[in-house]
Amino acid sequence: MRLRVYYDHWLPKLFKFAGLTIYPFVMLAGAKDAPGTATVARHECIHVRQVRREGLFLFALKYFVELVSLLARGRTYDQAIHEVSFEKEAYADQDKIEMTHEERTDFAL
Ligand SMILES: [Zn+2]
Repeated sequence: MRLRVYYDHWLPKLFKFAGLTIYPFVMLAGAKDAPGTATVARHECIHVRQVRREGLFLFALKYFVELVSLLARGRTYDQAIHEVSFEKEAYADQDKIEMTHEERTDFAL
């Protein structure tokens, strides 16, 4: 499925997120040419790959269950969101993935 990628979008800004993927929609808070936006784009691109690998339903379910269980074990929201395994993978790889031609096209990069 082709992505719909939006830069300088209000929704991630509302939640003070740098980016937000609600597959197949990817919304980034920063303008396309703003410093740091390319890193956020690669981070969200990893989430797109995770959704395609796991399937949307399982991705959302696992993400939600992990987040709730971390919160139930006393993590703050900011701690918990960084400990979800999908986020750990995205943060670990966001500076080293090579986007495919199709991904660069979808992200207009
Ligand atoms: Zn993320």
